[in-house]
Amino acid sequence: MTTPVYENFINGHFLKNQTGDTFAVKNPATDEVIYHVEIADEFIQNAAIESAKQGFAVWSAMTPIERSRILLKAVAILRERNDELAKVEVLDTGKPWQEAECVDVETGADVIEYFAGLAPAQVGQQQMVGNDFYYTRKEPLGICAGIGAWNYPLQIACWKSGPALAAGNAVIFKPSEETPLGAIKLAEIFIEAGVPAGVFNVVQGAAEVGQWLTANPNIEKVSFTGEVGTGKKVMASAAGSLKDVTMELGGKSPLLVFDDADVSQAVSAAMLGNFYTQGEICTNCTRIYVHKNVYQQFIDELKTRTEQNIIAGDPMDPEVNLGALISKKHQELVLSYIDRGIQEGATLLTGGKALSPASAPNGYFVEPTVFVDCKDDMTIVKEEIFGPVMSVLVFDDEDDVIQRANDTHLGLAAGVFTKDIQRAHRVIHQLQAGICWINSYGNSPAEMPVGGYKQSGIGRENGIETLDHYTQTKSIYVGMSNIESPF
Ligand code: NAD
Repeated sequence: MTTPVYENFINGHFLKNQTGDTFAVKNPATDEVIYHVEIADEFIQNAAIESAKQGFAVWSAMTPIERSRILLKAVAILRERNDELAKVEVLDTGKPWQEAECVDVETGADVIEYFAGLAPAQVGQQQMVGNDFYYTRKEPLGICAGIGAWNYPLQIACWKSGPALAAGNAVIFKPSEETPLGAIKLAEIFIEAGVPAGVFNVVQGAAEVGQWLTANPNIEKVSFTGEVGTGKKVMASAAGSLKDVTMELGGKSPLLVFDDADVSQAVSAAMLGNFYTQGEICTNCTRIYVHKNVYQQFIDELKTRTEQNIIAGDPMDPEVNLGALISKKHQELVLSYIDRGIQEGATLLTGGKALSPASAPNGYFVEPTVFVDCKDDMTIVKEEIFGPVMSVLVFDDEDDVIQRANDTHLGLAAGVFTKDIQRAHRVIHQLQAGICWINSYGNSPAEMPVGGYKQSGIGRENGIETLDHYTQTKSIYVGMSNIESPF
């Protein structure tokens, strides 16, 4: 059976590359190649820049309310095609249909809708300076590059293009080479909604195409989502032409469960924050610190619910709530971390092995895995694993657990479970993380800015402030009287 070959999406249509080079994309749940994608060669790269320049000229000249109206049409189409798009995400990522059907498209559409609404509300300032005055304009940056990770491909493409396009920029987006189709679907939807050709372009490929984007002097900004190590390379390369950067990177986030917490709720949060999207979520609370007074109760309930309530299998089956990891290589990496945990003396409470469910026997599944009695210096407690692997640690002192929670170079997210309202805020205010939850975990509405402290990131996505990251301020001084000149 022949599989489809997708070309790069440039200037409003598919464009064939000249080298003929392609890469294959597999369904992680079946290990089968589902389609091929052409790599953006030099011809495509040049065409993408020319296309984005032309797109920018048209788009930035439109009024914000015109842009807003068009983006809202795209939002309506995204919602109408929810199921078709959710299926694309399931086949590309291996995540369960029951998640993609209500989260991936929805949260992407929400963000475009949010920024479409804000676009006409952006205002400059004006101030008198004696008889003279100045005013400011919020102008778009020009061509912005987006580089995406593979865990939420369509959502990431929406989260980056929403504010960029609302502010009047053109975008060249490179999805992860593991999951390239969602961004193409979004590009088609933008065209259908009336976004002018050239405003949103999709280039395909791996690191070398990303490197070209980060080094290209025609690009004013790079918004990157991916690993910390890659983020450092992207930022170093972007520095060559002093590009603005937004970095959404990895995490090793703590969840603190105090002895007055609703333990069942805390278990729910811990399971969501480790097993949702089979653990492939950047904000996951992979270090769970539980107060010694409720430690046993916590791990007993966690073990029971993990062993009874998780259904792995064909991700398109609506009953399945644990999907396949993105690739064989990633599955092996996650399993190697589990081995390391065992070698370093952590107690395996449940899970620990690869899974081969009857409905998806060739998929890259890993059992939901919980380590207990973990120590702070274990590799599984220190490094991001990006799979369904939870580490549980015990504590008995508030100040001590805050210090332990902060003892990492990462700072993406954190959570606290307690019924003591003052403790909740006191503790959260001391945790070094950009995205925090109290008696909750994982929700990320369009209105809320998200991003990392320390090496987990730079800048923010979502929320009002993000629009400022896609504009530059022009100050205009207006003289109202004769110039006094000594010359
Ligand atoms: P990755 O860093 O391997 O790849 C991310 C993207 O960068 C891909 O598109 C890849 O092709 C590209 N790339 C690779 N090398 C490059 C280079 N030298 N220059 C430019 N681009 C390059 O990350 P991944 O494995 O796709 O995603 C998983 C990681 O993403 C995890 O660390 C996770 O925590 C992080 N993540 C963070 C967030 C967030 O919002 N903070 C969200 C999702 C994922």
